[in-house]
Amino acid sequence: MSISFSPIIDKLIDAFCCLPSVGPKSAQRMAFYLLERNRDKATHLAECLQQAMVQVKHCQRCNILSETDYCQICSNSDRDRTLLCIVESPADVVAIEQSGSYQGLYFVLMGHLSPLDGIGPEDIGILKLSQQLAHSNINEIILATNSTIEGEATAHYITQLIKQQYGIRTSRIAYGVPIGGELEFIDGNTISQAIIGRKAVYEAEVPYDAVD
Ligand SMILES: [Zn+2]
Repeated sequence: MSISFSPIIDKLIDAFCCLPSVGPKSAQRMAFYLLERNRDKATHLAECLQQAMVQVKHCQRCNILSETDYCQICSNSDRDRTLLCIVESPADVVAIEQSGSYQGLYFVLMGHLSPLDGIGPEDIGILKLSQQLAHSNINEIILATNSTIEGEATAHYITQLIKQQYGIRTSRIAYGVPIGGELEFIDGNTISQAIIGRKAVYEAEVPYDAVD
């Protein structure tokens, strides 16, 4: 049986439980830590939360989280507007942007298809994606949904949709051995995908000089 000190503390602990992977014990630890040791930072946290919840919305074009109607990427005239990368979440955009390897536009799905959970195309923003494709100059689409059963099913569904309705060239991100990875520690499925997705080696790509 839990001991209650105060309805306000109980409410705070309950509020922390909305965070992913945070149960009642962790929530209680967080609440006590902030109340006993860090009230200034806690007040700052509350202000940041309040401001973000009020001011941050979804970009009208790509769904990335943004303070303005159109995000910085969609508003940037230097981006390649013929290339679209489709991902499952805003965190995926951050990961790709940090790689510095992509200069096109994005479309962020609201997750992935999951028929068992009742999540269909209309729940992940396929209608909005269709509207974007109908009024854009996109001529290549990269499907960068996760390498999970649901991510693959979502990629397959979108590929079929694009093929039937728009005829835009579509590709899937490659899978394989991570940079610095050693084959003996990599699972069979990943090695299998790496072999299926192998590419030719050209002399120019081999930095012999760098080895000396
Ligand atoms: Zn945007």
